[in-house]
Amino acid sequence: MKKKCFFWILLGAFFLTSLSSLTFVRKHRCKKDMMQRTFVIFKPDAMEQGLVGSVLNRFETAQLRLGAAKMIQLDETILRQHYAHLTDEPFFGSIVVYMSSCPVLIAVLEGEDAVARVREITGPTDSAAAPRGTIRGDFGKDKSRNVLHASDSPESAQKEIKRFFSPKEIF
Ligand code: ADP
Repeated sequence: MKKKCFFWILLGAFFLTSLSSLTFVRKHRCKKDMMQRTFVIFKPDAMEQGLVGSVLNRFETAQLRLGAAKMIQLDETILRQHYAHLTDEPFFGSIVVYMSSCPVLIAVLEGEDAVARVREITGPTDSAAAPRGTIRGDFGKDKSRNVLHASDSPESAQKEIKRFFSPKEIF
């Protein structure tokens, strides 16, 4: 009788443990599925004013993890690819001059819904019209000196990350 009881207790404990591990795995797998990567450039005004730490801190505080980072010197060739949607604009020449005026920091940020959340934290293009509390609203000056580039869609993010980083550089 005692043996039978012990068997049923053991079976019950095994069943409960399996159930809770399954729930844990499911919960974590879902979280992993929602993980997304996005691409950012700390523009020359961020570099020159020493804003890298303050800007990165906003993302890290929002649970957006640094997955890759390096400094590079942008040139017209890569800017023509990166800003392909703007090459016909009258201000394109000034973008090239400005964005290649000093080395910049480029980075990959990773987290839940990263593309939309990084755009939201960054704020709209025109810093002068960007709300307080956004990066551009707090640190930017105008449409050109707007601190940060951030991918505008998951498709752009994938393309931009591939353009600037090799898979080995992303952690
Ligand atoms: P965002 O950077 O917010 O995604 P866009 O893709 O429209 O905005 O533009 C890319 C970049 O081109 C801007 O961040 C800015 O540096 C530059 N830009 C856009 N519009 C203008 C403008 N009217 N005058 C000068 N620079 C501009």
